[in-house]
Amino acid sequence: MDTCLFCRIVKKEIPVKIVYEDEKFLAFEDIRPQAPVHLLLIPKTHFASLNDAPEGAEGLLGEILFRAREIAREKGIGTTGYRIVLNTAGDSGQEVFHIHFHLLGGRRMKWPPG
Ligand code: AMP
Ligand code: ZN
Repeated sequence: MDTCLFCRIVKKEIPVKIVYEDEKFLAFEDIRPQAPVHLLLIPKTHFASLNDAPEGAEGLLGEILFRAREIAREKGIGTTGYRIVLNTAGDSGQEVFHIHFHLLGGRRMKWPPG
C-alpha cells in the first residue's frame, strides 16, 4: 500500500534502524522507545490489523512470534523477560494500521498495562 507508513518502511522509502530482515519479515527499532529494547516486527505483506488477517495467515503469525523470541535472545532479554504487544483497533491504541508486534524488554514491566 503506497500510503501505509510500514509498507513504505519495507520499501526503504523511510529510514529505520533494521535489526532483522528476511523475505517475509522486518524488525526495526521503534522511533519512540518505551523500554531499553523496543522493536517492531512486521510481516512485509500488508494487512491492517489482526482483525484483517486473511485465512491462511496463521503460519505467518506463528513464525513472527518465534522470530520475536529469537530476536529477544539476541538482544539479551530472552531470560530476563520481555513483552510482546499486538494492539488491535480503537481501544487498544493502535495507531499504525499495518499489523505489527511490539517487542519490549530491558526493564521491569507493569501489569495491568495502561
Ligand atoms: P501502535 O500504537 O501499536 O500502532 O504502534 C505504532 C508504533 O509505531 C508506535 O510505537 C510508534 O512509536 C511507532 N512508529 C511510528 N512511526 C515510526 C517510524 N517512522 N519508525 C519507527 N517506529 C515508528
Ligand atoms: Zn502496510
